[in-house]
Amino acid sequence: DSVFAHIVLAPEDPILGVTVAYNKDQSPVKLNLGVGAYRTEEGKPLVLNVVRKAEQLLVNDQSRVKEYLPITGLADFNKLSAKLIFGDDSPAIQENRVTTVQSLSGTGSLRVGGEFLGKHYHERTIYIPQPTWGNHPKIFTLAGLSVKSYRYYNPQTKGLDFEGMLEDLGAAPSGAIVLIHACAHNPTGVDPTVEQWEQIRTLMRSKGLLPFFDSAYQGFASGNLDSDAQPIRMFVADGGELLAAQSYAKNMGLYGERVGALSIVCRNADVASKVESQLKLVIRPMYSSPPLHGASIVATILKDRNMYDEWKVELKSMADRIISMRHQLFDALNSRGIPGDWSHIIKQIGMFTFTGLNPEQVAFMTKEFHIYMTSDGRISMAGLSSSTVPHLADAIHAAVT
Ligand code: PLP
Repeated sequence: DSVFAHIVLAPEDPILGVTVAYNKDQSPVKLNLGVGAYRTEEGKPLVLNVVRKAEQLLVNDQSRVKEYLPITGLADFNKLSAKLIFGDDSPAIQENRVTTVQSLSGTGSLRVGGEFLGKHYHERTIYIPQPTWGNHPKIFTLAGLSVKSYRYYNPQTKGLDFEGMLEDLGAAPSGAIVLIHACAHNPTGVDPTVEQWEQIRTLMRSKGLLPFFDSAYQGFASGNLDSDAQPIRMFVADGGELLAAQSYAKNMGLYGERVGALSIVCRNADVASKVESQLKLVIRPMYSSPPLHGASIVATILKDRNMYDEWKVELKSMADRIISMRHQLFDALNSRGIPGDWSHIIKQIGMFTFTGLNPEQVAFMTKEFHIYMTSDGRISMAGLSSSTVPHLADAIHAAVT
């Protein structure tokens, strides 16, 4: 008998499981709106031209070898990543008080940051928004932190519960860590305004709460890299400390390459170098050093003016297609006279719309229309196209009436 005979079958991941179910469906009209990955108008995955170009350059460069990277990753990549998120002229970078390590995409950056805090930070409670990306509570629990939540979304308005958020952060113990979606909040698509960010910042700094930004969608929300990083830069500008996890999965379409970075902005250069020395002790026994290829692609693009500009154009066109899908879906629902206010579809930003459909309605749409999404009613706008909008609108129509 197997020594593993006692092991029970684990449930599928609630997000990745949607795709598993989709793949089993034989219907020609099936539609996968569960996956958080960009698709073209034709429903195909997209490799950016500028990424192909960078890969070609890397392949042609005979001097390149496959040696291990240092524990902290590719130095150029780290420098350029910090500039991308904090800004070219960031005082924190100029003062050498930022340490950046290359990590395994957004998830790995969050995990390394979480492990570091669990080991070295005095307050082991992290507050995450309610709701949030399903992996957050698991990542931080395994990192040894105690996970609590703050109010974020108001189902009545399908917008921000700003008062609730301020109340919960105001009641958090001083020094607590606060996980913040830098932009394009997943799953709700609801972000605070700049004025609201300023109030959140003032409150958090006055209470000594430590911000941990999760930036998985820089450039994807508005189409502009700088606007999407603005909340983070507001927190850096006040001189305080913070962590930021960056992912290149969505904004460079490098999903499977697992490219990301963790930056910790410290009070001064001395603290930053000590923090970096401890980050290395977190990383070494976890995976030794990060992979070379994806980071080389990113560094190649970010350090070349022309390629950087080309990337921005391609990024903007992905963001624009998503925004256009919002408008098409909104119009299609209105033209069917579906009851209710659907304006949140065009107000929410980023890859996802939090439709407000309940688990029963979602199950109905999957069963009757072969449309797949997470049971919380989140749909990926990137998975839609002009040709599939009518099918989705029909399904929503049938589900709500
Ligand atoms: N954080 C949020 C909010 C996300 O939505 C995602 C991806 O879906 C990630 C982090 C991490 O993604 P990855 O590890 O692929 O970079």
